[in-house]
Amino acid sequence: MSQPRPTTAEIECAIRNIPDFPKPGIQFKDITPVLADARLFSGSIHLLTEKFRPGQIDAVVGIDARGFIFAAAAAIKLQAGFVPVRKKGKLPYKTHEQEYNLEYGTATVAVHVDALKPGSRVLLIDDLLATGGTAAAAAALVQRLGAEILEISFLIELSFLAGRERLKNYPVSSLVVY
Ligand code: AMP
Repeated sequence: MSQPRPTTAEIECAIRNIPDFPKPGIQFKDITPVLADARLFSGSIHLLTEKFRPGQIDAVVGIDARGFIFAAAAAIKLQAGFVPVRKKGKLPYKTHEQEYNLEYGTATVAVHVDALKPGSRVLLIDDLLATGGTAAAAAALVQRLGAEILEISFLIELSFLAGRERLKNYPVSSLVVY
């Protein structure tokens, strides 16, 4: 018999806080206990995709690296393709690149130039929304390919960092908000 679906409160309880990782002052949200629990992992995929039916999304775009885990599972559930947005220098074919600001310095994400067809309907997923720079850069790449973002979804949102402000042109949803 299938087990009852988890609530977002149960998912929140499984997220582990790691103080001062990867550097002092950062409280890292460790999602590996969620992934390791079959009910919590599949429940989180259910919650990330429940607004959509198979056929409504052409591609789920995942952000390097933990976003891939959720986006790939969501793609299978929605019977959609999976497209990776990767850190610069990792994709083998021709790419579009988008730079964005970090607290100190900049970073660049990339997508293959033929990863999405113009007009394709996209669900963009990452594990965590902090300042929003990464997701905004990924969204800009999706738009550059002429695809349409139906939603940007996160497992976790650190609302005190106001990342939603940078994504205000898109529908945004998150499961667990701190
Ligand atoms: P940002 O561009 O500031 O929204 O940062 C989001 C990206 O950085 C996501 O891909 C997250 O995986 C990662 N990230 C940022 N802050 C944290 C945190 N406190 N715990 C875990 N991952 C984080």
